[in-house]
Amino acid sequence: MAVARSFLSTLVGSFSQGAADNPTVAMEEAAFRHHGLDVRYINCEVAPEDLGDAVRGARAMGWVGFNCSMPHKVAVIEHLDGLGESAAIMGAVNCAVRQGDTFIGENTDGKGFLTSLVSVVDPAGKRVVMFGAGGAARAIAVELALAKVAAITVVNRGRERGQTLVDLLNQRTEAKADLVVWEGDYAVPEGTDIVVNATSIGLYPDLDARLALDISTLRPGMVVADVIANPPKPRLIRDAEARGCQAITGRGMLVNQGVIGIKYWTGVDVDPDVMQAELARIFDT
Ligand code: NDP
Repeated sequence: MAVARSFLSTLVGSFSQGAADNPTVAMEEAAFRHHGLDVRYINCEVAPEDLGDAVRGARAMGWVGFNCSMPHKVAVIEHLDGLGESAAIMGAVNCAVRQGDTFIGENTDGKGFLTSLVSVVDPAGKRVVMFGAGGAARAIAVELALAKVAAITVVNRGRERGQTLVDLLNQRTEAKADLVVWEGDYAVPEGTDIVVNATSIGLYPDLDARLALDISTLRPGMVVADVIANPPKPRLIRDAEARGCQAITGRGMLVNQGVIGIKYWTGVDVDPDVMQAELARIFDT
């Protein structure tokens, strides 16, 4: 007897500009192949003026969800039907999830970071120093606040962006936030538990770029995390390990946000090691 077959795959994808540089499709499809999932991830170059049509297209074609990257993370919200808790506070979405006939916006950047963090430390009650106040910083800070960290010091070069994030945290979350305008080498205060680089300093090809940070103030036992996914061990991570800190890489954050997105879309827990291996094959060989 012939076995019933379907030639209709489940569709997900990504809308961004600069899509050719985004490795997410390779990472996600490696996971789909490994788990035998009949899901395709379509990486799409979408200009800002076409974003509404792209979302309507995804809806019309029955996509179960999509990622949004630069420059659509805020603009996409007006095309969605609702927001998850942290995405609503951040005002930014990087992952839309179909629920019935609706698309709900989530933000998996901060959640991916948190997954890495909780594997080494319970954030509740901890004191955090975070460099940067852009999109990644915003996502991480809000998730840290929802995970009940006690305090977040935002260290940012530009006062205005830093203050906007600090005000958001103080007004919309229980965490106590303050701003340090970044001038000269920053000394991490004693009593800090977690240090996060959420700036783009250290991103490939600027392999030896250094944060303006007095690394003698990184103390053994501190957790030091970096958002930089390429190279796998940016300078801050190398310095932190040499100082006896527990280091968390941006590569792990990138993989984890992918794992969380696939769980939202398919309900399947995929193996992060498969995605790590695919990124290593692409970037590190
Ligand atoms: P944004 O442009 O929104 O923000 C960049 C931040 O970095 C700002 O706070 C900016 O400060 C600061 N910054 C940049 N260059 C310098 C410098 N030379 N000195 C001091 N501060 C600097 O970018 P995103 O937040 O979207 O992305 C930041 C990084 O996070 C990127 O490298 C991106 O690849 C990475 N990322 C990693 C993810 C992962 O899964 N691993 C997920 C998302 C992002 P100012 O406000 O003063 O300009």
